Amino acid sequence: MNQTRHDWTKEEILDIYNKPLMELLYEAATIHRQHHDPNTVQVSTLLSIKTGGCPEDCGYCPQAARYHTNVEGNDLMSVQQVKAQALRAKASGSSRVCMGAAWRNVKDGPEFDQVLEMVRTINKLDMEVCCTLGMVTENQAKRLAEAGLYAYNHNLDTSEEYYTEVISTRGYEDRLQTIENVRKTNVTVCSGGIIGMGESEQDRAGMLVALSTLNPQPESVPINALVAVEGTPMEDQKPVEIWEMIRMVATTRIVMPETQVRLSAGRTEMTREGQALCFFAGANSIFAGDKLLTTPNPDVNEDMEMFKQLGLIPQKPFIKISQPQTVEAADSQFTALGEKPKWSRPGHIIERNELAKEKGAVSKS
Ligand code: SF4
Repeated sequence: MNQTRHDWTKEEILDIYNKPLMELLYEAATIHRQHHDPNTVQVSTLLSIKTGGCPEDCGYCPQAARYHTNVEGNDLMSVQQVKAQALRAKASGSSRVCMGAAWRNVKDGPEFDQVLEMVRTINKLDMEVCCTLGMVTENQAKRLAEAGLYAYNHNLDTSEEYYTEVISTRGYEDRLQTIENVRKTNVTVCSGGIIGMGESEQDRAGMLVALSTLNPQPESVPINALVAVEGTPMEDQKPVEIWEMIRMVATTRIVMPETQVRLSAGRTEMTREGQALCFFAGANSIFAGDKLLTTPNPDVNEDMEMFKQLGLIPQKPFIKISQPQTVEAADSQFTALGEKPKWSRPGHIIERNELAKEKGAVSKS
């Protein structure tokens, strides 16, 4: 069995990515079988608990307030609303609920307290709870862990070099710092990226270097294909070809043998055959539900039909790591520190982001 390595170089990863496809598939599938049951796929449901109005300028994101998209903003959902959605997700075969809030970073206060209550509530439903809330401090990560959080998602998105072509309102080092803060707890790390944003193969490999050289490697790595949403700076990007997705999944599997590789955004554009090849190449997790935060996703019934056709079984919760204990708010060891960390704000100009912002301003006026 091959061992997990933390010293992958960009050249090595590029060599893997560009192997003849049959060799790449064979190698990835072999490694996949050594570390995972190839017929089991973990199913997560992504829930947008606070949609739109985000101050960040991520070039791919329809939730950024500065662009003009059709996303309707919503305030933070109530705990009861989230519980109802989680029960629905559980009934349809999901083992994990991932709650996303369109925030730059977590701020101590009543909204974060409400999210902590959501985490407690879902963990008590015996489901894995994941949050993606932007940058977090160590104390905030500890409060999430204490509430019973299973995973924290914070994507690196792309390579460090290409990051400056996508986002100007925060730096790559903040992403890494957040992951480090989460690592100071027992919460598992979910971190991946997006392909199809105009990045080169070097950038794809660069992202995999950044992820695979983390020690430990993330327990979960989502691989997204850009969904080019009208009004965002990336609205004209060409769709990702299925072969690129398969190569990316296979390469991720080879360099991160233990991780759960998650097929994320862009699945509506993939045929069943394409998805089957991704599962063969090592993908073993998907997002279910007709929406991924704000972009379309295949219907749950369609997914379950695909599972049946391919003989795949949804993974039960807490297979890899046991269920965290939930500590009630009244018994918490941690208090809100009201920190104001200095997350970076590089502020460089990204032309396509500026153009989309101008267009947004014109159509809003
Ligand atoms: S990806 Fe997240 S941080 Fe970036 S604009 Fe969208 S909601 Fe905000």
